[in-house]
Order: sequence, then structure tokens, then C-alpha cells
Amino acid sequence: MKELVQVTVKGNNEIAENAFLLSFPRNFNFTAGQVIGITLAKAEEPRLYSIASGAQQDEVWILYTIKTDGLLTPQLARVKAGDTIFITKPFGNFICREEKAVWIATGTGIAPFASMFFSGQHQNKVLIQGNRTKDGLYFSEHFSKQMESNYQPCCSREKRPDCFHGRVTDYLNTLENIDTRITYYLCGSAEMVVDVRDLLIEKGVPFNNIIAEIFF
Ligand SMILES: Cc1cc2nc3c(=O)[nH]c(=O)nc-3n(C[C@H](O)[C@H](O)[C@H](O)COP(=O)(O)OP(=O)(O)OC[C@H]3O[C@@H](n4cnc5c(N)ncnc54)[C@H](O)[C@@H]3O)c2cc1C
Repeated sequence: MKELVQVTVKGNNEIAENAFLLSFPRNFNFTAGQVIGITLAKAEEPRLYSIASGAQQDEVWILYTIKTDGLLTPQLARVKAGDTIFITKPFGNFICREEKAVWIATGTGIAPFASMFFSGQHQNKVLIQGNRTKDGLYFSEHFSKQMESNYQPCCSREKRPDCFHGRVTDYLNTLENIDTRITYYLCGSAEMVVDVRDLLIEKGVPFNNIIAEIFF
């Protein structure tokens, strides 16, 4: 069992339907893209969550959705400011620094890229973010303001003037030429990661230029 540290929750707010942003004071260093384990009881196996806040921020943010039949998230959604939770140390290698790259995320898979963005690592990057509705494009107002045309939101179930209508794979299919020399970072469900990886490989991106983090 990993070492667990108790922290006091600062906030736990529903930021979109079924999606919450949990926050607590940062008392450790981490690299954007890393995860921590969270549990409400020491006896229960911690679930993994990507840190969504920047590496220099005073607060740690965790973006999560409720799995209605899940063990942790229905209980986590009831946690209030002042309650205590247990966390592990940060770990993981889903890390992207200064290099030119494309970030592709769906759902809560945006969390590691949000952390990279809030850590100031969005220069040289293109971010493609997908969800069914605009509501689920978490942090999109920050991305569109600072990344401008390097930010491409995609909504598959909602038509909006500021979003591509379709999935991230549909958007990638509209691109005639994609840069096959740079690295593509993917984060989200296994289904999305497999579909996007197949498509990129078909378009000529070498397997080794595709780095993925799957939220299972
Ligand atoms: C590297 C990584 C990073 C992640 N980051 C995030 C993040 O930033 N935000 C986020 O929301 N999630 C993230 N996740 C997912 C997260 O770890 C949890 O899996 C998720 O929040 C559900 O937790 P839970 O305890 O509520 O559900 P769980 O109890 O873990 O159940 C999840 C699902 O699996 C099913 N299930 C559980 N046990 C079994 C079983 N024995 N057999 C079959 N099905 C079963 C449940 O019915 C449910 O549908 C990440 C996962 C990984 C691996």
C-alpha cells in the first residue's frame, strides 16, 4: 500500500453536470502531467487522478466525474470544504515540456494538459479538446483566450459557432496535412486513445511519436 497523507479539502464544486473540481492546499512538488492517488479511507485502494492545476499554484485541483456505480466518486462528490481526504505522493511519466507537440483530450482527460497549460507550457502546442457538449469542455475559456487558433474545441452532440461539430477523430480527419515529425499526446478513455492513435498512424505519424495516458 502506498504511503498516504491526510489533506484538508478547500473546495469541491460542481463545475458542469456531473463534473467536480476538488481543491486542497499544495504541500508537495510535482511535474505537470503527474497523478496522485485519492481515497477517503486508508483501508480502501486509492483511485488515480491527474492533477489539473499548475505546478506553481498554491492549490491542487482535481477534475473528476461521478461514476454512479463506482466506489469512490459518488462519496467524493459529497465531500465538503474542511473535510479530510487521503492522497499519495505524485507520480507518473506523462510529461511534455518545451517541445512542439499536439495535445488531444476528451472528457476529464483534459486534466494533465490543463496542468501543463497552467504551468505555462502551452507555447508551441496545439490543443484539441473534445466532449459531447460545450459544458464538458472544462477550462475552455482559459485555453481559447490564451492559445487562440492553437486551441480547437470539438462538440459531438451540440452545434455551436465556436466549436467543431463532431468528435476529435472527425476533426483530425478534416486535416489534409498533419505534421508527422512532432509528438502527439493523447489523454482520455481507452476507446478515444485507440481511435486517435489508429488514425494518426494511418496519417503517417510514427508509433513512437504518440504518447498516451488512459483513464480506466
Ligand atoms: C492514470 C489515470 C489517471 C486518471 N485521472 C483521472 C482524472 O483526472 N479524473 C477522473 O475523473 N478520473 C481519472 N481516472 C479514473 C479514476 O482513477 C477512477 O477510475 C474513476 O474516478 C472511478 O473511480 P470510482 O472509485 O468512482 O469507480 P470504481 O469503483 O473504480 O469503478 C469504475 C467503474 O468500473 C466498474 N468496476 C469496478 N470494479 C469492477 C470489477 N471488479 N469488474 C468490473 N467492473 C468493475 C464500476 O462499475 C465502474 O463503472 C484516472 C485513471 C488513471 C488510470
